Amino acid sequence: MTIQCVAVVGAGTMGAGIAQVCAQAGWQTNLYDAFPEGLERGMERIAAFWEKGIARGKTTPEQRDAWSANLTAVGDLAAAVGQADLVIEAVPEIPDLKHSIFAQLDELAPAHAVLGTNTSSLCIADIAAATSRPEQVIGMHFFNPVPIMKLLELVRHDQTAEGTIAIAQAAGEAMGKTTILVKDVPGFATSRLGVVLGNEAIRMLADGVASAKDIDTAMVLGYKHPMGPLALTDLVGLDVRRDILRNLQRSFNDDAYAPHPLLERLVAEGRLGKKSGKGIYDWSSGQPEETSLD
Ligand code: NAD
Repeated sequence: MTIQCVAVVGAGTMGAGIAQVCAQAGWQTNLYDAFPEGLERGMERIAAFWEKGIARGKTTPEQRDAWSANLTAVGDLAAAVGQADLVIEAVPEIPDLKHSIFAQLDELAPAHAVLGTNTSSLCIADIAAATSRPEQVIGMHFFNPVPIMKLLELVRHDQTAEGTIAIAQAAGEAMGKTTILVKDVPGFATSRLGVVLGNEAIRMLADGVASAKDIDTAMVLGYKHPMGPLALTDLVGLDVRRDILRNLQRSFNDDAYAPHPLLERLVAEGRLGKKSGKGIYDWSSGQPEETSLD
C-alpha cells in the first residue's frame, strides 16, 4: 500500500508535530482535535515552526507553501479519517479515552487503514482490542519535539501483522525517522531504560556519591550522552518519570523499579523539574543550577 492520506487525531504537543512531519513527507494530512482551540493552537504551532525555519534559512517559502497545502485542519473525526491510509492517534494518555477513540476509528477509517497510537506507556494490545482489526494496530511512539527527534519506536503487540509493521516502518522512513521495533512490554525500550537510569542517578545523588552536576557530567563526557540523566529527568518532569516507574513496578511486580524516596519527596513538594522552576536543579535562570535538596 502506498500512503496518500494520513489523519492525526489530537493536535497537542505531539499531534501537531506528527502532522507537521506527515505534511512534509508529501502526504495529504488531516489534523483533528476534539476542541477547536486545540486544533487552532496545533496549526499555529506548525506554521510558527515553518516560519522560524524560513527565518533561519533552513526552509524555503516554496517548501512552506507546498507543506501547508498538504495540511488541513478538520473539526470532524469522520471527515478527518474517512479517506486515511494511516491514522495516528495522539490524544491524552487516558486508557478509556484511547479505547473509545480506537472504537470510533474502527467504525470511521477505511478497512485497509493502519491505526497507530503514540501512547508512551499504555498496552498496545488493550488499545487494539477496542477494534475489530487488531492486526492493523501498532504503537508509533514519537519523541518531542517530533520534527527534530530522529527516533520512531514501533511497538508490535502479539497480533500486529507483518504487513502493518512494514507500512509503519516505511512511513517512519518517509518522515525522516529511524525506526526500532519493540515488543508490547511496559515501558517499551525507551521509557524503561530512561527511567531506570534516571532513578539510579537520583539514588546516587541521595547517597552522596557526587553532586548532581558531576553525576550528569559523568554520563555526558564519559558515555557521550547529550544530556545527563538528572537534567533530563528535570526536563521530562519528575512526576511523569515517577508515574512511569510506578507503572513498571506494578506491571513487572518488581520493586527494582520503585521510584526512589527522594524522587517521591520532590514530586510531593511540587518540585517537578523545569516546568515548575525547580526539580533536582533550580531552573530560574533558564539553566540547570545546583540547589539544596532539603
Ligand atoms: P497534549 O495534551 O499536548 O495534546 C493532546 C491533544 O488531544 C489536545 O490538543 C487535546 O485537545 C486533544 N484531545 C483531547 N481529547 C480528545 C479527543 N477525544 N479527540 C481528539 N483530540 C482530543 O498531549 P501530548 O503531550 O501531545 O500527548 C499525546 C500523547 O502522546 C499521549 O499519549 C502521550 O503519552 C504521548 N507522548 C507524549 C510525549 C511528550 O513528550 N509530550 C512524548 C511521547 C508520547
